[in-house]
Amino acid sequence: MKEKMKENKNKKIRIIAIIIIFIILVWTIYDYTPLIKLPLANIIYGSSSCSKYNNNKSNSSSELLFYEDIDHPMVGGTAVTKWKCRLCFRGGTSPTTITPKLCDKCAKLTNRCYECGKLMK
Ligand SMILES: [Zn+2]
Ligand SMILES: [Zn+2]
Repeated sequence: MKEKMKENKNKKIRIIAIIIIFIILVWTIYDYTPLIKLPLANIIYGSSSCSKYNNNKSNSSSELLFYEDIDHPMVGGTAVTKWKCRLCFRGGTSPTTITPKLCDKCAKLTNRCYECGKLMK
């Protein structure tokens, strides 16, 4: 009787371990492949292209540094602002009220501008 209970317990632990490994696996696949993130980014941020990096290709990097529009504001309030990437839910804090729309990793993976979330060409 006691041994059967022990067996059941072991079974439960094994099932839980398998579920945890499965979740980690699914998350890793989600995190490292653009397969799901690409269409998801299209839904969240739309399919328009980023005005900062697509119209200013011939310009020098210093002009890009001082580029400004609604999607890419230069001046923000000086307040530590928390932000979260809407694709992988990782986040961080920004020293100003200007916060990125995507984390570096998701921006690279989906080929989008991290500042406005729109497409790069
Ligand atoms: Zn992300
Ligand atoms: Zn942009």
